[in-house]
Amino acid sequence: MTAAYQRILLKLSGEALMGEDAYGINQEVVSRIVAEVAEVSRLGVQVGVVIGGGNIFRGMAGAASGMDRATADYMGMLATVMNAMALADAMRAAGLNARVQSALRIDQVVEPYIRGKAIRYLEEGRVVVFGAGTGNPFFTTDTAAALRGAEIGAQIVLKATKVDGIYTADPKLDSSAERFSRISFDEAIARDLKVLDATAFALCRDQKLPINVFSIFKPGALKRVVTGEDEGTLVYC
Ligand code: UDP
Repeated sequence: MTAAYQRILLKLSGEALMGEDAYGINQEVVSRIVAEVAEVSRLGVQVGVVIGGGNIFRGMAGAASGMDRATADYMGMLATVMNAMALADAMRAAGLNARVQSALRIDQVVEPYIRGKAIRYLEEGRVVVFGAGTGNPFFTTDTAAALRGAEIGAQIVLKATKVDGIYTADPKLDSSAERFSRISFDEAIARDLKVLDATAFALCRDQKLPINVFSIFKPGALKRVVTGEDEGTLVYC
């Protein structure tokens, strides 16, 4: 089987790591996600991952409870570093060669983000997990995914969600909702569909970086996306 993409940027939300738990990292769920990533890595696809932090801490929640927003956002970014470490650890346990790079410097713990080094790792077949989002408050890890995707020259950003694509309506509320197999950036805007947050979406659109929204919990879905099968929803230029 040949891959449709040589280099991808996979965006995983922090919530994906907690499974049915209310908080934190569920190792069994992490192992399942890692197995999906391992499958595409073994196909020869170069994989960069941006991981969120919502399973541990979100800046908006901190701000809502009275914290200074920027401080809360830095805490959110640190949460993503913890997730990145857990993910890379599980990847190594599964036989993948994984590295974490952080947009915030925590030198004793993980190496800093260095674009050229990240690209070299990818070329060597290592999976690079990007932690700490963009390194800036007031942004999200969706934006980090678009940014790192563009920086490393990924051919596509894969947004892993709980739902297996973008639908005409919420499939949980409306049984007649239909999945878009493909949709253009312009049509997604016209229909006011939420694909990534607005900043991330605009960056992908400007850079002509397609996005595929799919479910990481559907076995084999990630592999089907990278082999160009009709899986999830492809947002194209
Ligand atoms: N965050 C930030 N700048 C970034 C990326 C993330 O300040 O570039 C903070 C923000 O507070 C956010 C938290 O980190 O709420 C966790 O990221 P996100 O909410 O994107 O995680 P996800 O929803 O994907 O789990």
